Amino acid sequence: MSSLFADASLRLEKALQYVTISEDASERLKYPKASLSVSIPVRMDDGSLKIFQGYRVRYDDTRGPGKGGVRYHPSVCLDEVQSLAFWMTFKCALLNLPFGGAKGGITVNPKLLSKAELERLSRGYIEAIADFIGPDVDILAPDVYTNEMIMGWMMDQYSIIRRRISPGVVTGKPLTMGGSQGRDTATATGAFYVINSVLPQFNQKPETTTVAVQGFGNAGAEIAHLLAKSGYKVVAVSDSQGGIYSPHGLDISSIREYKRKHLSIKGVYCHNTVCNIVEHENITNEQLLTLDVDVLIPAALEKQITVENASGVRAKFIFEVANGPITSEADKILEAKGIHVFPDILINAGGVTVSYLEWVQNRNGLYWTLKEVQEKLKEKMIEEAEAVWKIHQELGVSFRTCAYIHGLNRLNMAMSAKGTRD
Ligand code: GLU
Repeated sequence: MSSLFADASLRLEKALQYVTISEDASERLKYPKASLSVSIPVRMDDGSLKIFQGYRVRYDDTRGPGKGGVRYHPSVCLDEVQSLAFWMTFKCALLNLPFGGAKGGITVNPKLLSKAELERLSRGYIEAIADFIGPDVDILAPDVYTNEMIMGWMMDQYSIIRRRISPGVVTGKPLTMGGSQGRDTATATGAFYVINSVLPQFNQKPETTTVAVQGFGNAGAEIAHLLAKSGYKVVAVSDSQGGIYSPHGLDISSIREYKRKHLSIKGVYCHNTVCNIVEHENITNEQLLTLDVDVLIPAALEKQITVENASGVRAKFIFEVANGPITSEADKILEAKGIHVFPDILINAGGVTVSYLEWVQNRNGLYWTLKEVQEKLKEKMIEEAEAVWKIHQELGVSFRTCAYIHGLNRLNMAMSAKGTRD
């Protein structure tokens, strides 16, 4: 099986067929600008020393400092981090944010660490990459299994190293450390704005639209909640332990409450006091992907829909809240089936868009209300979604390819503006 990065690059190759860009630009975009691998020694609570592997990749910084989250997961490797940095490059260009693309990660299962170990690991990571990042160089943010508490530690550690308070080096911080209103829910909120504006174009009304969401983390749980609140029928959700399905619709607020207490949604319906819907089925993550629903939202990890299961997908629309949940081979199968796929670099761009707003607020020392942040987010998401839609109408190619074309045009302009720097 080809690497994740090789597969991700195929999306660029496809888009390149539809745009005229300089050979220099297309050549540059095939390779990450810089990749750093580090070993992070961490003193464990039992006194032993454990070494963790960490990465930071700056894919491209033509349009501005690198920008992207840091992932803590047992499967993190350089190939994955490079792919995620590649997607960030196109995401930031697509949303017209003055950023390039970057990403970081540590190979770890954070659920197995104590809070003190997690803090030492996070601070150790910053020690190891401090010379590679900075508010004007490369800016971190949360991703899978990282959160605002971790961002706070990272910002603090960077400030200690630099001997100056540097809030602009990390976004997604706690509000008390220079975080922005609305950053915690931004990925899902941005996705919701686009989903809710796209579906009416296909005459799809909330009350008659069934939805399945894979992943019940920060983004997955919030998008399920926002859709349910707006009258969509969320019939299935899952987390890494498995999922639940009820054709009558699920009570998302209760499930969220349950997950907060039990850290997983597993067993949610055994507790009648928590959830009032009795008729349900326990399903696997695999089964969730092939349910007979109108809308499927992968909001977990990469490579969930592949050649193995793509032909079984029955949804009419897929909105990628996760990064890279569909392989390029699976894309072809879904397209042949007439399924409309709205790509990650557009759908989940709300997170980095509010990260940008946070960075701007940090630089100005002036803070916006939640309403102001959400208005700015909505305007950006809708504007760029409409631009992608317009390219789709002109060229008749997939929304994914159109999203890449849109980002690619901006990257090309920036590269040309810089001239022939080698
Ligand atoms: N990790 C998020 C993403 O994949 C957010 C990145 C950011 O805010 O910089 O888009």
